[in-house]
Amino acid sequence: MNVKEAAVRLEEIARLLELKGENPFKVRAYTGAARTLRATKLDLPEFVEQAGAGKIRGIGKAISGKLETLLQTGSLPYLDELRAAFPESVRELLLIPGLGAAKVRALIEDLGVHSLGELEYACIENRLVALKGFGNKLQSKVLAGIRARRRYQNRFRLPEALEAADGALALLKSVGNGDARFETAGELRRFLETVNGLDVLATGASTSKVTEHLESRKDIGPVRHTPDGATFRFAGIPVRLHFADRARAGAALVLCTGSKAHVEGLRRRAQTRGLRLGPDGLIRDDTPVETPNEAEVYTALGLPPIPPELREGRGEIEAAEHGRRFDNLVQRKDLLGVLHLHTTWSDGAGSLAEMAATAQRAGMKYLGVTDHSRNAFYAHGLQPDDVLRQHEEIDALNRELAPFRIFKGIESDILPDGSLDYDDELLARFDFVIASVHSSFGQPADRMTERILRAVRNRFTTILGHPTGRLLLAREPYAVDMKRVLEAAAETGTAIELNANPHRLDLDWRLLARARELGVPVPICPDAHSPNGLGDVFFGVKTARKGGLTPADVLNCLPTDEVAAFFRRKRR
Ligand SMILES: [Zn+2]
Ligand SMILES: [Zn+2]
Repeated sequence: MNVKEAAVRLEEIARLLELKGENPFKVRAYTGAARTLRATKLDLPEFVEQAGAGKIRGIGKAISGKLETLLQTGSLPYLDELRAAFPESVRELLLIPGLGAAKVRALIEDLGVHSLGELEYACIENRLVALKGFGNKLQSKVLAGIRARRRYQNRFRLPEALEAADGALALLKSVGNGDARFETAGELRRFLETVNGLDVLATGASTSKVTEHLESRKDIGPVRHTPDGATFRFAGIPVRLHFADRARAGAALVLCTGSKAHVEGLRRRAQTRGLRLGPDGLIRDDTPVETPNEAEVYTALGLPPIPPELREGRGEIEAAEHGRRFDNLVQRKDLLGVLHLHTTWSDGAGSLAEMAATAQRAGMKYLGVTDHSRNAFYAHGLQPDDVLRQHEEIDALNRELAPFRIFKGIESDILPDGSLDYDDELLARFDFVIASVHSSFGQPADRMTERILRAVRNRFTTILGHPTGRLLLAREPYAVDMKRVLEAAAETGTAIELNANPHRLDLDWRLLARARELGVPVPICPDAHSPNGLGDVFFGVKTARKGGLTPADVLNCLPTDEVAAFFRRKRR
C-alpha cells in the first residue's frame, strides 16, 4: 500500500459516509486527510509515523489509527463495513461522472433509484431535471455516463488481457499433448486498444482430451462447447478456444485473427482466384489446399503477408494489392530515445538518475524528461525556481553520462484558454515542451478545439500530449475535432504524441494513418511515472504498427542530434 492507494481508500470512506448521511465534519475530515496524503512527499510508513505522533495538521487519532491498520494489513474493516451497508448497485451510481455522494443520496431518497438501470430510466423520464441541484445539463451528462459505462462492460484493457492470455496458454499447454500448438488470435493478436476476450487457436491437439481436462477444473468457470471448440473464463476474461488440424492451421489462424471486414475481403479475393476460404480451410475445386502457416494463405491469394495488427479491413488488402509491403513497420529496436516521463521532481516515483539509467539499460541514446508544470498542483508541478534547479541537475548528469543525453522538457498544462503554463522566457529555457490538457475536460467541442489549436500554434509547443485525453474503459475523449488539430500540427510543424500508457493509447491508432499522410511526426511516449513505466513503449510500438507507422514517421526513431534539431525548428 502506498500513499496514493491509501488516499483512494479515505476518499471512498468519505463518499460512503456522505451517502450514509453522516455528520459533514466527519466527511470533511476524511476528504481533507485524503488531500493531505495526495500532496505529501513522505512515503506511507513515514506519513503514518508522523500522523501517529500528531505531527500532521488535520489528521487526528481516528484517521491516523486507520492509516496504521491499512499500512500493516493492507485492508480496513471500517471500510469493509461501510461497503457492506450499500449494495454494489448503489455504489456503482457513485462512479457516474457528475454524481457525488450527496446527489446519489437525493436520487435514492427522492426518486427511489438504486441501480444504474433505474437511473437510466429516470433520466429517460426526465425526472432529474426537476430535482434540486440537478437540471437538464446534469441529466444529459448522467445519461451519457451510464451509456459509456455500459459500452465498457465486457471489454478488457491490454495488460490484463495479455496476462490472462499467458496464464490460459500455460494452462492449455500443460494439458495438450507435447506437439500441440496453442496461439492467441482475435482482437488481442490484432492489438486492439481494448479486447472483448481471448481467442486461442489449438492445432494438433486432441479436442476431447483438452475439453475434458478443462471441465474437470473448478477455477475457470463453466466450459461450454461451440461448433469448433469450447469457451471458458480465465482470470475473469472469456476465452474462446478453437481447434483445427495441422494441415489447415494457417487458414484457421487467419480466420480467427482477422476482423470480419478483413476476413470478408480475403474471401472475396479468394473467389476471384477460384478459391474458397471458410471453416474447412482454403479449398480449390473441392480439394483442400494445405496451409500449415498463414503465409501460404496470403501467398495463394497473391498477397504479401499482412501483419496481424493491420487486419482490420480498413484498406490493408487494397494497399497490398497496390504493392504496399508491410515489412517496414516500426519495431521496438528502432526507438533511439524516449520522451515524456516524470520524476520525483513532480509526481514520478524514480529520480532523474534512475530514469536515465533505466533508459540507458534499455538501449536508449537519449531521454526527454517532462515533469508537470506549475498549474498541476495535484502532481507537484514545478515552480519556476524548481525548473532552474532541475536544469542544473540535468546539466550535471549530462556531463557524467555523455554521449547519452537528457533533454530538458516540461509537460505544460494547456490552460482553459489555450495558453501554456509558464511565460515565454521560462518556456524558452526548455529544449522541448509537451503541452497537455489536464483540467476543464468538459468544455464544449468548439471551445475545446480552439483551446487545443491555440496550444498547437504556440511556437513553444513541440509535442501535443495525450491529444484526446481518453482513459480506456474509464473516460471518453474530450470533445475535440482531431481532424483540425492534425491539420494545424502539420501546418505548424508540431508533433503529436502516441501516449503508450495502456490506459490511454492516445492518439488512437485509427487517426495515426491520417497523421502519417499529413507528415505529422508521432513520438511514441511512455508517459512513465516510474522506471518500470518506461516499458510501456511496448504498447506504443504495437499501436503504432497498427496505425501503419514506419520508423520514418516516429519522432523518437531519430538520432540525438536530429531530434535536437527538430526541437529547435519550430521556435525559429
Ligand atoms: Zn499528462
Ligand atoms: Zn505525463
